[in-house]
Amino acid sequence: GWVNFNKFYDHIIDRFEMTKNDDITFKRDLPKEAYFVDIDEDKITQVLYNVISNSLKYSPEGGQVTFRAKATDGFIVVSITDQGVGIPKNVIDKIFDRFYRVDKARARNLGGTGLGLAIAKEMVVAHGGKIWAESVDGKGTTVFFTLPYEQEEEDDWS
Ligand code: ATP
Ligand code: MG
Repeated sequence: GWVNFNKFYDHIIDRFEMTKNDDITFKRDLPKEAYFVDIDEDKITQVLYNVISNSLKYSPEGGQVTFRAKATDGFIVVSITDQGVGIPKNVIDKIFDRFYRVDKARARNLGGTGLGLAIAKEMVVAHGGKIWAESVDGKGTTVFFTLPYEQEEEDDWS
């Protein structure tokens, strides 16, 4: 169904903020205007959950996680940036493949199956969006995804 994306995103960030480690700082950079997206809320919640869990899992002590959303031509671009270990350039697209993990030893210690981002990709694509990552190895990672939106219109009939 149709949801106000800012409200929806803000609410999910709130839930993570309540349970996060005190060492991690959250920063939000969200638009003031309302943007409406036609989504399966459970599925996009899962996308955000998988991406945010990674950014927390790979954040160093004292790290900052930045949540952004920005409207471009027809799409909201959502991004989550951390200051963690980063991902080498040559494998950055592989992280969306099933069971792929950059560092097998490290991943084993941190737990998980390597499915989180593959599931996120499947759900974003099913909504007509894209998902990708940018990273500076050793400095941090940003995961972006897009969703088609409708901007709130003035009522022409009043
Ligand atoms: P699961 O999500 O199933 O618990 P996972 O987190 O290992 O396991 P994905 O979420 O699919 O699996 O991520 C795949 C791999 O991409 C991770 O194992 C990790 O190597 C790398 N990765 C993902 N997000 C980040 C991040 N924010 N910083 C550094 N590496 C990351
Ligand atoms: Mg994960």
